[in-house]
Amino acid sequence: MKHHNHWHTFRYAGKAYTDPQRRRGEAPSTFPPFAVKDFLSETSIKHAGTVDRIPAALDWLKQGATSSPPVDGAQFLLEERLAWADRTLGLERGADIIWGYYTNSQVYVSLSVIACPRRPHEACPIGFQDEAR
Ligand SMILES: [Zn+2]
Repeated sequence: MKHHNHWHTFRYAGKAYTDPQRRRGEAPSTFPPFAVKDFLSETSIKHAGTVDRIPAALDWLKQGATSSPPVDGAQFLLEERLAWADRTLGLERGADIIWGYYTNSQVYVSLSVIACPRRPHEACPIGFQDEAR
């Protein structure tokens, strides 16, 4: 059974940081964390948006990727990326989307849609509740 009932959205655009740089605290707090669970940490979650339906998550990804197009956008079309995201978000497990890519102007962009809560009976860290339940 699915225990997540919504997703948190995280966007970053800027300089890319290596893992050692991130561990040394050189990356800004909006830079995506290494571990998926850390997206929902106190430092990260304050930058998040929330969506509770797959179409809303896909719209958010589409908007982000349209405003900052990937450098390989002609080879890997946005429609294909979104179709893949649509299937992934509908899965019972592993229903997270983590996109990281460079734009033509060498800006690193990260668009992440992270399922929440992570475990059964766990509460959302920002207290979001699905109205349908
Ligand atoms: Zn949540």
